[in-house]
Amino acid sequence: MKSFDVTILGGGFAGGLLAWVLAKQGVRVLLLHRGRFGQFAIGESSTPMADLLLRQIGGRYDLPELVSLSTYPSWKASFPNLRCGKKRGFSYFHHDASDASQPCGKQSLLVTASPSDRWSDTHWMRSDIDQYLIDRARDCGASCMEEVEVVAVTAGTPAEIRYRTGPDDNARVESVSTRWLVNATGRFGVLPDEFAKAIGRKDVTKRLRTQTRSTLAHLHDVRSWSSLREQFGFKIGREPFDADDAAQHHLTADGWMWMLRFDGHDRGGITSVGWTQPIARPVADWRGRSALHAMMDGAKLAESTPSWISIPRVQRMQLPVVLENYVALPTAVATTDPLHSTGIAHGLLGVARLAEVILAADGESDDVLRQYSDAVELEVLQIDRMVAMAYQSLQSMKRFEAISMLYFAAAIASEEWLAGGGDLRRALWLADQPGFVDLLSQTERQLDADVPDETLWDWLEPRLDPYQNAGLLNREANGMYWYTGQAKQSASSS
Ligand SMILES: Cc1cc2nc3c(=O)[nH]c(=O)nc-3n(C[C@H](O)[C@H](O)[C@H](O)COP(=O)(O)OP(=O)(O)OC[C@H]3O[C@@H](n4cnc5c(N)ncnc54)[C@H](O)[C@@H]3O)c2cc1C
Repeated sequence: MKSFDVTILGGGFAGGLLAWVLAKQGVRVLLLHRGRFGQFAIGESSTPMADLLLRQIGGRYDLPELVSLSTYPSWKASFPNLRCGKKRGFSYFHHDASDASQPCGKQSLLVTASPSDRWSDTHWMRSDIDQYLIDRARDCGASCMEEVEVVAVTAGTPAEIRYRTGPDDNARVESVSTRWLVNATGRFGVLPDEFAKAIGRKDVTKRLRTQTRSTLAHLHDVRSWSSLREQFGFKIGREPFDADDAAQHHLTADGWMWMLRFDGHDRGGITSVGWTQPIARPVADWRGRSALHAMMDGAKLAESTPSWISIPRVQRMQLPVVLENYVALPTAVATTDPLHSTGIAHGLLGVARLAEVILAADGESDDVLRQYSDAVELEVLQIDRMVAMAYQSLQSMKRFEAISMLYFAAAIASEEWLAGGGDLRRALWLADQPGFVDLLSQTERQLDADVPDETLWDWLEPRLDPYQNAGLLNREANGMYWYTGQAKQSASSS
C-alpha cells in the first residue's frame, strides 16, 4: 500500500493551495477530488485579509506566484490567462421600492479596501484559479486525482483510505495510508458514513443565526451600474472608486443582490450575480426594483452556469474541526454567507495555520490543533453573528451602514494583527475579545428593541471607537469611506 504524509480530500482553491504549499516543502501529498478539477465554483470575491494572507503564505513558503496573485495589477501582469476582475472595495446601493422620494439605488455606501488601483483586490474566476493551484501542486510533486470517490476511511495513525477511481465499468479500488487527513471538501463535503460516525461528526447548523437562501449564476451582458446611475440622472459627487470595480451589493428590504464584474464584462464578458435573502421572508428577487431590472434586462446565462443555481439554505456547520490526525479547513467546517465575503480569507487562514502545524516537528501539534479548533469555531460563530445583524438591518441604508461597521472594524483589526506578524493561532475577527463580543450582544439587543437609526448611530459610535482607528461610522463621511485598508498600507510600505 502506498503511504503519504498528508491526504487532502477536496480540490477547490483551499485544498489545491495546501497541497502546493506542502508539496513545495517536500511533504508527500495525495489530493483526492470528487469532481473534475477547475469546474465552476462560487466564492469569488477576495478581500484585503485574503490578499494579505496570500502574500504571507507566498513569502513564507517561497511561492512568489502567490504574491503576484495578491493584487489585481500584479495578477494581470503575471497571469493574463487567469480570469479575474478588479475590486477596489465594497459598494452598496439601497433600492427602496416603498420610498418614492428616494430613486431606486440612489442611497449608497462605498467602503474602500485599497488606497489605489495598485493595491486592488480581485474577483477570482474560481475555475481558473482552482485549476492553476492544482497544476502548481502537481509541479511540486503532489499526486492530485480527480473523479475519485472515497469509499472508506479507517481512523488511526496512520489512517487508511480506500477510494474508487476510473469509469464505472472499469473502476479500480485502491488503498493508501496517510499520517494526516485534511478535510478540504467545502460546502458539498460528504465523508463516508462509517468514518463520519467514527469521528463523531455532527451537524451543528442550528448554532448559526443567519438563515438565508441564494440563487446565483454567471451572466453575459449585465449592464454597468456606474453608467446606469448617470443615465438615471443621479448626482454623483466625488467617489473613492468606480462603483463597478467592487463587490457590488444591491440592498432591498427583502434581500440583496451581488454583482462581481470580471474583466471584459462591459464587452459581453462575465458578471457573477446572486440574490440572497432571509429564508423567513417571502421569496423575492430583483424584478420589482426598476434599477435592478434595467441592469439585468438583456443579460444571458453564461456557459459556466447553463441555469440558475439555487441553494435553499446557505449556512451549514459540522464538527469536529479536529480529531487526532483528522483536521478540517474552516471552509469545510462551515459556510456562513456571501455577505461580507469571508470564505476565501477563512479558507486561506486555514491553509496558513494547517501548513504550520503539519510542517512542525511531530509531537508539537496537539496544543496547536486544539487552539486551531477553538479559533475556527469562535470565528465561524462571530462572523455569523455579524452577518445575521446585517440582515436584520436591511430596511435602511443608514442602519445597514452602522451595523456593517462592526464587521469592518473586526476585519481591519484582524488585518492589522496579521500585517504586524501576529500569531496565527489567535482567533481573528475579534472573536476572542470579550469586550467586542459583548458589544455584539448589546447591539443585538438594540436591534431587537428596534431603536431608530439615529439613536443606533449615537449609541454605537462611542462603543465602536476602542476597536477601530480607520474612521468608521462617521456621519461626515456621507457613506464614502475613502480609505479603510490600514493593514495593506503598512504591509506595502514595509
Ligand atoms: C452563495 C455563496 C457565495 C459566496 N461568495 C463568497 C465571496 O464572494 N467571497 C468569499 O470569500 N467567499 C464566498 N463564499 C464562500 C466560498 O464559496 C467558500 O468559502 C469557498 O468556496 C471554499 O473553498 P474550498 O476550496 O474550501 O471549498 P470548495 O470550493 O467547496 O471545494 C471543495 C471541493 O471538494 C469536493 N468534495 C466534496 N466532498 C468530497 C469528498 N468526499 N472527496 C473529495 N472531494 C470532495 C467538492 O466537490 C468541491 O469541489 C460564498 C459561498 C456561497 C455559498
